[in-house]
Amino acid sequence: MDLRYTPEQDAFRAEARAWLEANVPAEPLPSFDTLEGSLAHRRWEAKLDAAGWAMVPWPVEYGGRGANLLEWLIFEEEYYRTGAPRRINQNGIFLLGPTLMEFGTPEQKARFLPKMASSEEVWAQGWSEPNAGSDMAAIQTTALRDGDHFVLRGQKTWASRGAFADWLFGLFRTDPDSERHKGLTFLLVPLDAPGVTVRPIAQLDGETGFAEVFFDDARVPVANRLGPEGDGWKVAMATAGFERGLMLRSPARFQETARRLVALYRENQAGADALLREAVARCWVESEAYTLETYRTVSRLLAGGKIGAEASLNKIFWSELDLRMHETALRILGPRAELLPEAPAARGVGDWLDGHLFALSGPIYAGTNEIQRNVIAERILGLPRE
Ligand SMILES: Cc1cc2nc3c(=O)[nH]c(=O)nc-3n(C[C@H](O)[C@H](O)[C@H](O)COP(=O)(O)OP(=O)(O)OC[C@H]3O[C@@H](n4cnc5c(N)ncnc54)[C@H](O)[C@@H]3O)c2cc1C
Repeated sequence: MDLRYTPEQDAFRAEARAWLEANVPAEPLPSFDTLEGSLAHRRWEAKLDAAGWAMVPWPVEYGGRGANLLEWLIFEEEYYRTGAPRRINQNGIFLLGPTLMEFGTPEQKARFLPKMASSEEVWAQGWSEPNAGSDMAAIQTTALRDGDHFVLRGQKTWASRGAFADWLFGLFRTDPDSERHKGLTFLLVPLDAPGVTVRPIAQLDGETGFAEVFFDDARVPVANRLGPEGDGWKVAMATAGFERGLMLRSPARFQETARRLVALYRENQAGADALLREAVARCWVESEAYTLETYRTVSRLLAGGKIGAEASLNKIFWSELDLRMHETALRILGPRAELLPEAPAARGVGDWLDGHLFALSGPIYAGTNEIQRNVIAERILGLPRE
């Protein structure tokens, strides 16, 4: 494997860096889990899209730059390095987008991808239900055929950014007599359709981006089905592969956290504590290891490979690393870590506490780490099924 960048890739990096340095907002945007913040993030996304930076590996006709996944990794490195805003449409661009590329009809790609790239349409993910979390095959929300429509009835929950989203993709039971993984279909649902009710859920930090979504005989055209009827599990597993295995959490995010952690350690002269020094060094090394592993994955994909069960290894690694980095930062800060940003003595404390609260959810979302360990045991190690 040749780890050097080509002159074209260096030029691409320089172009991305120059644009980002000139355009990234000087002040952080309000959280995208608030109404004000969601609007500000949509404006930022529209600007990125207008300059062709929204999703660099997509074809130009869908709002991309026709680059490849290696260039996407380079773009992500520059994106995080310049402190650019978090992506409000991450469910769309990182999860549904690649799934649409693989399973969508030409009409669906042309209809949905450009508005996804510009975040004119923001997407929520509708897997979880009150009785179907880890056990996603227990999905009960039905979508029964009525002519050229599906009629939806039931409830989804924990839809991230669902409160401010326009569309939801999810799995629905289209065969009411089916069980488990069979008889499920992947549908694209407009959240403003009659019979759809979105109810925000307050998070630990009080913001209300999360939502539960109720369907009371909401009608969705059959044209909004992604992939074959009754075979939605296969489509959803491809989405989960992109989520866990590559796109949701690019290594640049963790490299940036590791850089900030090293700076925090230096600023606080924490060097006298050998255990702390080792913890910081380990976080930095692991963020670099994750980066190299991702370059390897991308090289494999560019050579025609696909993401498989190893995505579960990846998901455990990045979620546990993120948590460890935030825990290490809190150890460096000691009791000061608990100060809110507006407290008089909070200078230099940064947003590590807020980051830690979110990092706590890493081992839960995108499928809990216990479930990922089951996948690894059964599908990689070949151990007996549960
Ligand atoms: C920040 C955040 C964002 C989220 N965003 C979304 C979203 O956008 N869309 C969406 O659909 N969902 C979303 N979720 C929901 C998430 O996917 C679920 O919380 C997760 O799948 C676990 O389901 P559950 O909460 O019902 O827990 P449960 O399934 O009830 O699990 C409870 C505990 O039991 C363990 N457990 C369950 N079954 C097994 C087993 N077979 N073997 C070993 N241990 C097991 C679990 O690991 C967990 O520790 C989000 C969650 C969080 C925290």
